[in-house]
Amino acid sequence: KAWEYSESIESAAIVKIAPKYNLFINGKFVAPKSGKYFASINPATEQKIADVAEAGEADVDLAVKAARQAYNKVWSKLPGKERAKYIYRIARLIQDHARELAVLESIDGGKPIRESRDVDVPLAAAHFFYYAGWADKLDYAFPGRTLKPLGVAGQVIPWNFPLLMAAWKLAPALACGNTVVLKPAETTPLTSLFLAQILQEAELPDGVVNIVTGAGATGASVVSHADVNKVAFTGSTLVGKKIQQALAGSGKKMTLELGGKAANIIFEDAAIDQAVEGIVNGIYFNQGHVCCAGSRLLVQESIHDVVVKKLFRRLQTLRVGNPLDKNTDIGAINSKMQLNKICELADSGVAEGAVMHQKAGKLPDKGFWFQPTFFTNVTSSSRIAREEIFGPVLSVMTFRTPDEAVEKANNTPYGLSAGIWTDKGSKAMKMANALRAGVVWINTFNKFDPTSPFGGYKESGYGREGGKQGLLDYCKIE
Ligand code: NAD
Repeated sequence: KAWEYSESIESAAIVKIAPKYNLFINGKFVAPKSGKYFASINPATEQKIADVAEAGEADVDLAVKAARQAYNKVWSKLPGKERAKYIYRIARLIQDHARELAVLESIDGGKPIRESRDVDVPLAAAHFFYYAGWADKLDYAFPGRTLKPLGVAGQVIPWNFPLLMAAWKLAPALACGNTVVLKPAETTPLTSLFLAQILQEAELPDGVVNIVTGAGATGASVVSHADVNKVAFTGSTLVGKKIQQALAGSGKKMTLELGGKAANIIFEDAAIDQAVEGIVNGIYFNQGHVCCAGSRLLVQESIHDVVVKKLFRRLQTLRVGNPLDKNTDIGAINSKMQLNKICELADSGVAEGAVMHQKAGKLPDKGFWFQPTFFTNVTSSSRIAREEIFGPVLSVMTFRTPDEAVEKANNTPYGLSAGIWTDKGSKAMKMANALRAGVVWINTFNKFDPTSPFGGYKESGYGREGGKQGLLDYCKIE
């Protein structure tokens, strides 16, 4: 129980949480016309953190109208260097408020504070810095061409990297001169609303960014609103397909960042200890709630037993528990619903004959938890080899030759990322070319940088976020 105590004392001193949050429309926090609120829950304690407004269609309409007006009257008219000033200001304010944002992210979403502090928040700031730099250089992005904004962007984001996904969406949209209606995920709305306060502090003109909280229905209202010109969605492949169907023929520009089932491929010539750390980082980072998680381990047959042994030993050293404890490696599962999904898929693994290996130890009574797990004896047709689990569960399979590794790695409807571990540069390059994945990491995993485009093949979506490429999806090129 000690950690419940430390949470209430430490976090209250670092970040002030209001009992109730309203919608952010036209530069102000306003009560929803719908009159509805929902609870945001701390997944590590199951306690309510705050009530959050649920935007209905009329609220979304107001937000889109505010965004349109800001687009027509202010934002699209500003020279790039003026837009850049605001975006730099937002980046610096994220740095100024880094501790509050990190604590809030960990309370609302369950991720270890070490990750929100060292990954989510700094990368969010870096994204704004990077795209601020582009705002006055769009003329140079594609020489001989002019980039023009699209208008109002409707953006819907998931719960695994709430602040970072908001940054990925907002920064390029604003840099190109678009205005935005953003819909955060229902289990993690609080850092987006904190960001709204930062936008006020940065004196971003009213209506340039509007934030409407709510569940899937709110997201559906945003993307299908007739006055939204561009839709950017990050979330599940299932919802991505629904949005594609709903918007067919609408003429809206669309980017989709969807699910994944990445292969992490380890050759016998790899530095094994380094590779095992890469496997652990690849699947257990952020409780495995990572679209590009290395959730399928393809290990060369000759080193299977030694890798499994080392992995099992390493598993026992992972610390699962209070997200606000700086020593925690694995925090809480984001929601009860996600925990149920993980449990159901892990059960299916056992039922289909795979062998389960799990970290030993007792989990807290309250909250949503799942011990880090991996499966051996996994057949490539089983559900745990094919479906995205989005939790700390790894499926281990073997291969003999590089060609077989490529064939197995590509044998999935997804294509977001992949990892290769080998001492041979030529082999790594050959493999990287053959893998049907948007990102391929070599002798590392889960490395992100705002300068690098990120996005999927196949059912992992289309369009790219990050880098110069990320501008393209928010502009018309003339
Ligand atoms: P989800 O698809 O259930 O929800 C994502 C967002 O969409 C939420 O804000 C939700 O409220 C909203 N939504 C739900 N139904 C909608 C509808 N009909 N119309 C519009 N919006 C709707 O996904 P999730 O469970 O929040 O996130 C996990 C999924 O996201 C995983 O599959 C993961 O791989 C994927 N993801 C992908 C990336 C990427 O960059 N490719 C990044 C993070 C997460």
